[in-house]
Amino acid sequence: MTQHLDPRSPWVISTHDLGKRPGTMRQMSLTLPASADLGVDMIGVPKDAEVELDLRLEAVMEGVLVSGTAQAPLTGECARCLDPLSSDIEVDLQELFFYSDEDASEDDSLLDGELLDLEPTFRDAVVLALPLSPVCRDDCPGLCTECGIKLAEAGADHRHEKIDARWASLQGLVSENDNDQEK
Ligand SMILES: [Zn+2]
Ligand SMILES: [Zn+2]
Repeated sequence: MTQHLDPRSPWVISTHDLGKRPGTMRQMSLTLPASADLGVDMIGVPKDAEVELDLRLEAVMEGVLVSGTAQAPLTGECARCLDPLSSDIEVDLQELFFYSDEDASEDDSLLDGELLDLEPTFRDAVVLALPLSPVCRDDCPGLCTECGIKLAEAGADHRHEKIDARWASLQGLVSENDNDQEK
């Protein structure tokens, strides 16, 4: 469970100045590059996008409590019309990083000495907050189920002539008669 963190990673933050004194607090604002494409098929935070973080680090008895917000751009495609779309996302972050695994359970985050890694906390928060069906706009009409044309461009009167089932069976009779004549 204890993993050694790379102090050069931009998402690894030192808590040195908190000095493990409960009640000590520090505010910080930083901009970090997204370390990978985060997201699902339709939408996500692109790799290297700028993530803006406003954080509060607070030393408590068991560790360091990190809370705050993260803002990041999103790119993806509309679930209805498949057009590319871009927007942004804001998520709340809250994570207690424990000094020792004696106090922590399996899923808890640990400090590595004075270092903590914010990336997994950010990643989890983003993946939970992503829209399941992102749309380019709330009233996007999507694609025609018959021909696949984009309805926003095709116009409100786009429709297909539906052949009435009774006519369809008559047409069948006609072609059967044609076959008879060929015999
Ligand atoms: Zn759309
Ligand atoms: Zn159509």
